[in-house]
Amino acid sequence: MNIKSIMDILTIILIFLLSIGAVICPPCDPPPEKPTDLQVIVFDVGQADCTLLKMDDHAMLIDAGNTGQDALVLGYLAEYDVTTLDYLVATHPHADHIGSMPSVVRTMERIDTVLMPDKGHTTQIYGDLMDAIDEKGIPIKIPTPGEVFQWGAARVEVLAPNSPTYRNDDLNEYSIVLRVEYGDTSFLFTGDAGEISESEQLDRGFLLKSDVLKVGHHGSRGSSTQQYLDAVAPSYAVICCGAGNPYGHPTPEALGRLAGVGAEIYRTDQNGTITFTTNGTTIKITTTPTPPPPHLYIGHKNNLVVHLYTCSSLPSPQNQVYFDPDTLEEAIDAGYNPHAACTNYSPMS
Ligand SMILES: [Zn+2]
Ligand SMILES: [Zn+2]
Repeated sequence: MNIKSIMDILTIILIFLLSIGAVICPPCDPPPEKPTDLQVIVFDVGQADCTLLKMDDHAMLIDAGNTGQDALVLGYLAEYDVTTLDYLVATHPHADHIGSMPSVVRTMERIDTVLMPDKGHTTQIYGDLMDAIDEKGIPIKIPTPGEVFQWGAARVEVLAPNSPTYRNDDLNEYSIVLRVEYGDTSFLFTGDAGEISESEQLDRGFLLKSDVLKVGHHGSRGSSTQQYLDAVAPSYAVICCGAGNPYGHPTPEALGRLAGVGAEIYRTDQNGTITFTTNGTTIKITTTPTPPPPHLYIGHKNNLVVHLYTCSSLPSPQNQVYFDPDTLEEAIDAGYNPHAACTNYSPMS
């Protein structure tokens, strides 16, 4: 038998096998699945953090706005039909991250796990959050850096906090940092982590490279160090900050470093709510402007202090007084004292 005949026979066998395969295999193969979208929604909650991750019927909420934003945060969740959470993440116990979380805990039909760092706080809001979690009997998990868990079709890795305690008891450095990978896309959520946390993540050799970075600590000077940004190399950076906030966030330093690594910058104070939608391959970005508040300045009728509407210590609705025109000058003329922490007002001497 010459080589050609052998080849002919092999070809016939191959065609025969393929024809059997063609008959047998199609029913065994699952139909090609349409890739599911992961939506990362960075809500505009002013000078505070609140981010929802949604994929099919899976949902994870990272931080829940400031105190007094209960209706706003619950409204956002309702808008996305979120009634259950697989994970509720309290990155660290500052009020601008857990402020409306007790309401979220009490309102959701089901929350499987609360993730928080091993760090408490003495504030009333922290106590209230712990009470709410306890009332609902939700298990609290303190995540360990290096730990990986599956959420929907995404892979989540815990990158921080890496130390049991931090200098000056800086609560921001205790922030839980999560890297979420879905298909070829990746997101890094850093809470208010500062330069110590960032250098620890670098020292541990974690994979930081991410397409989208939720910028640490509202774009403060002490976060988003050059080495960290070089490692993350984000295509998109999203900053949660309130217009005219008294901290000067985001700082020109952080903005400069982000621009320096070529990140396209989105800000809740300018873009409103920012949504990243990915099928695991490409990322689409949409922004939804936040409607202006009904009242910019809100006075307290009993103590005659006037606050910016985003302040965390607004008077209760029955004690609120509004001004027309809605300006700080009008409030002062009416005998109100500007709350220094939110109005950024310093009287002329
Ligand atoms: Zn914060
Ligand atoms: Zn903080």
